[in-house]
Amino acid sequence: MPHAPRITRRQAIVAAGGVVLAASSAAVPGIGAAARAGSRVDVVGAGLAGLACAARLVAAGVDVRVWEARDRLGGRTLTDLTLVPGAWVECGGEFIDAEHSAMRRLCAAYGIGLQDLESLDVPGAERDLVGGRVRAAGWADAPDARLAVRAARDMRRLGAARLDRLSAGAWLASAIPGWPGSAYARYRAALVRGEFGAEPSALSALWLVADLAGDADAGENQDGAERYRIEGGTTRLVSALAKAVGAARITRGARLVAVARDGSGVSLTIDGPGGRRTERADRVVITLPPPLVARVDMRRSGVPRDVVSAIARTGMGTNAKLIIPFSRPAWGTAGWNADGTSDTVLGSTWDATMGQAASGAALTTLVGGLMGSRIPGPDHGRAAEASVAERLALADRLAAGTSRAARDGAVVHAWARDPFAMGSYSAARPGQALDPPDLARPYGAVHFAGEHADDEFSGYMEGAVRSGERAARSALARL
Ligand SMILES: Cc1cc2nc3c(=O)[nH]c(=O)nc-3n(C[C@H](O)[C@H](O)[C@H](O)COP(=O)(O)OP(=O)(O)OC[C@H]3O[C@@H](n4cnc5c(N)ncnc54)[C@H](O)[C@@H]3O)c2cc1C
Repeated sequence: MPHAPRITRRQAIVAAGGVVLAASSAAVPGIGAAARAGSRVDVVGAGLAGLACAARLVAAGVDVRVWEARDRLGGRTLTDLTLVPGAWVECGGEFIDAEHSAMRRLCAAYGIGLQDLESLDVPGAERDLVGGRVRAAGWADAPDARLAVRAARDMRRLGAARLDRLSAGAWLASAIPGWPGSAYARYRAALVRGEFGAEPSALSALWLVADLAGDADAGENQDGAERYRIEGGTTRLVSALAKAVGAARITRGARLVAVARDGSGVSLTIDGPGGRRTERADRVVITLPPPLVARVDMRRSGVPRDVVSAIARTGMGTNAKLIIPFSRPAWGTAGWNADGTSDTVLGSTWDATMGQAASGAALTTLVGGLMGSRIPGPDHGRAAEASVAERLALADRLAAGTSRAARDGAVVHAWARDPFAMGSYSAARPGQALDPPDLARPYGAVHFAGEHADDEFSGYMEGAVRSGERAARSALARL
């Protein structure tokens, strides 16, 4: 999952002399703008960005159509309600930070409760398995603190532009003695893969350093990251938004293939139930993940070619979750709380059903980078037996006897192989952090939204919701 800086990444970058987005992001009027009677806005993609956008537009009285390529809603959020009887298990987006106010407000508005993970009393402590050894909680505290101080210094000394030209791997090599072979170096690389989904060599140093500098800035006061989960699963929020939009306005199995300017509006070519069709709208909001935007023919859309190609080039993480069901949280009796980081295929681990009244438990293992893109198995489905056995053997090293409580039916969610995601979440490549395309403004009648289009919380569900709501305001103001 992406990691949350206490001052946001954007604030840290601006403080280091970087300008992140054009001023147009500030110039969006409020939602109060009255919709022109009879005007139609189409929304493409029914993940959180698209649904949050469509719900706003419907509430403002606009004629809305939502086109979704999959046969399900929610996009990169997906809750498994069958893996562990009575439990919800998240296969994509999962945690909400305390500062994710748009997500928290939206859940509150639909009467959806949040599970406060900080209030849970979970037995056991964190353990990491790095460099072939099990390491007790706290082993990396001192080097972590040194790295955060170094990051804060380099933000000031090198500045945002130089850091953005470097890869996170190059910066870590300069900051960590023994890179890449030392245990701490291997631990840090594993954290980068888990949090950003990318190999350190494929991530802008600025993203990592800005996050670490935020840690240094926050000092002891680092509460709030990954504090909440949605009670009952993200599927509840997706369903509530879909209900607010109205089932009749949402078409599943409908894939956008082309956008063209049509007078003052747009025409959309959509492949879907009943074959290819053309739909005309006054405005369109495109919420597709960046690699999917690249597959849409936008040549006659009026969106400048350099904007489309900049979106298409956006770096994407390759996170994959392999989730193993258990008859009980067996790791607890051996003193492990299931939290940990490993340079093995375990990656980041946690108890997916912590605090739930379920009959059983589940252990989530999350990898990114090459391990994420190469994980065996389908995009979503049954995990390969050898992958499960390998992870259980490693879990036994962290907490003896864990594997004895494992149940059959482990699942894999390899988001980089999912044809409608083609990655987990955006992660700036070297050189991309300071020069993203300006997606806060429309291009003609075309608006963009999606986690990658938010300047403050890209990568997160929060970024998705914020971008969708912003696009709705922007479209309303122009009807
Ligand atoms: C493994 C993993 C862990 C994560 N952990 C966290 C976390 O802990 N906390 C957090 O905040 N975030 C997390 N995220 C990120 C979060 O899930 C995403 O940022 C967010 O869900 C993206 O929403 P979106 O609406 O921008 O995109 P999407 O959800 O991808 O929605 C886009 C929609 O467009 C559809 N589509 C694609 N192509 C077409 C087409 N041509 N025509 C029509 N429709 C199309 C897709 O099917 C999809 O439904 C995680 C993601 C993953 C994969």
